[in-house]
Amino acid sequence: MRIGVLAVQGAFAEHIGMAQELGAECVELRQERDVEQSLDGLILPGGESTVQGKLIRELNMYDRLKGRIADGLPVLATCAGLILLAEKIADSDTVHFGTLPVVVRRNAYGRQLGSFYVEEHFGNLGKIPMTFIRAPYIEEVKTGVEVLARVDGHIAGVRYKNQIAVSFHPELDHNPAIHRQFIEMCGKKENK
Ligand code: GLN
Repeated sequence: MRIGVLAVQGAFAEHIGMAQELGAECVELRQERDVEQSLDGLILPGGESTVQGKLIRELNMYDRLKGRIADGLPVLATCAGLILLAEKIADSDTVHFGTLPVVVRRNAYGRQLGSFYVEEHFGNLGKIPMTFIRAPYIEEVKTGVEVLARVDGHIAGVRYKNQIAVSFHPELDHNPAIHRQFIEMCGKKENK
């Protein structure tokens, strides 16, 4: 099981730690040739989506990554990663991969506090810890998108086909439930 973790900016090290604890091999995706190798899954970490979006283009990773996501490579996207996947960013003309049919609003949760922690239900995993850091929320979902979590009345987690996207940071809370479910999903597909 080999998971590629986008490692151009942001909280990628924590994702790698968690996926490795679950027995996955992780490779850091930092440059064009890294995204050519065989992968069973892809993690898009939190960080700053504008910076990440710029770097993946400048480093010639954009087309290959987008193609692999569109071809069905399982993806776990957190926070800025969710913004990279979204088909539409509210009040913006910028689109990054655009493979996830949702409208996302940046820096929308916890405007006053910046960051906060809750425990809420997520899909079939029961209540899990969720840390939000200058987080986006999902304002609108299109047909076929399954809502996995709502926090404070806003959508904080979705699944669409091969893409799981959350607005919080599951890699920071020592609860590997989401990563475990993602790695199971990676094991079910051949993505060579
Ligand atoms: N505010 C960041 C953005 O808009 C996301 C924050 C995060 O990933 N923790 O890209």
